[in-house]
Amino acid sequence: MEKVIIIRYSEMHLKGKNRGWFERLFAVNLEKSLKGIKHEIHRQSGRYLVENFNENDTDIITSNLSKIFGIHSFSIGFKVNSDMNEIFKAAQAVGKSFGTFKVDTHRADKTFPLTSMQINSEIGGRMLDGNRELSVDVHNPSFVINIDVRENGTSLVFNEFLKGAGGMPVGSSGKGLLLISGGIDSPVAGHMIAKRGMSLECIHFHSYPYTNLQAKEKVIELTKKLSQYCCGTKLNIVSVTHIQEEIHKKCNGEYMVTMLRRFMMRIAEIIAKKCGAQCIITGESLAQVASQTIEGMTSSNSVIESLPVLRPLCGFDKDEIIERSRAIGTYETSIEPYEDCCTVFLPKHPVTRPKLVDVLNEESKLDVNSLIEEALSTVEILNL
Ligand code: ATP
Ligand code: MG
Repeated sequence: MEKVIIIRYSEMHLKGKNRGWFERLFAVNLEKSLKGIKHEIHRQSGRYLVENFNENDTDIITSNLSKIFGIHSFSIGFKVNSDMNEIFKAAQAVGKSFGTFKVDTHRADKTFPLTSMQINSEIGGRMLDGNRELSVDVHNPSFVINIDVRENGTSLVFNEFLKGAGGMPVGSSGKGLLLISGGIDSPVAGHMIAKRGMSLECIHFHSYPYTNLQAKEKVIELTKKLSQYCCGTKLNIVSVTHIQEEIHKKCNGEYMVTMLRRFMMRIAEIIAKKCGAQCIITGESLAQVASQTIEGMTSSNSVIESLPVLRPLCGFDKDEIIERSRAIGTYETSIEPYEDCCTVFLPKHPVTRPKLVDVLNEESKLDVNSLIEEALSTVEILNL
């Protein structure tokens, strides 16, 4: 009797002719998530089985799989020969010795001598034999023994359907460049887009030495966490120190955040094109803070030449974002108190509804292109 993890996938059936491509991509993502852990993955009509792993690794395997998009549900159970004695042994192993239960059989192998109903009553009867602590309740059982009689002479026996991450396999919807700060929002934004199948590369702007090295470590940590959901990512780290110094020296300080955002967007678009990303993703949410107004977004969008900017959190309240951040495990890191470059040289009264003409007027005091060139020369890329 071999312990297995049964993986069922979601939504891929929608893709008709592309199904084969989707399934291969999905299998590659499964392999990546279990890298370094002894296992084998086999495909079996409409599901994948993780086999040949050490039982001690069951928790780490299920924890890693729970982050993989495209998984609808998974179950821990046993693979046995389609033989009633073996099926019964597995049923005993996945079931309990007390409480109410039912047996639920699916029989893909129509040559198997017993029907699904007969298997249910035979296995149910054997479970009950001599055990007064057990009783059958088909409507509201405390546990279910699921039996799946496959076409290939083997059966899968398991009890629970664990909920998978849903979504589409990462890599099936192109690639995006996520602007990641050290805050709560941007990792959540990245997670949401990755869920729909987009692979991510990340970019972070710092203003060392005004921001410290722990702030950078924090962003690396956040990106590593996000990376578990998107089957690996790269982090581009770019210094905007000199840009901020120049704005501070030459421009009206009230425009610091607005102007910095425009530099971030320009640099992001150049790096996105370089790494093959087809869009830019931010963690902005409408009206969340003073700088996140539609005027602020208009100002930062207007420097983008051709890529779409996705802002998946636009319609979320902060508490909804925090809830997601806790669920994906980034919250505790995000709330560590290190400074972000946006708070460096922060004016007392930043403009909240910047007029584009005023922004352009301020920007005309700078040599925008050479500042961008200079920032690009500081890029450091980490594989996470
Ligand atoms: P977050 O929690 O993601 O920091 P926030 O509520 O603090 O968001 P802002 O600081 O206004 O909002 O930033 C809005 C978005 O701009 C961020 O979600 C992120 O996508 C991008 N951004 C801000 N600062 C940086 C930075 N230093 N590096 C990269 N992207 C940034
Ligand atoms: Mg922030």
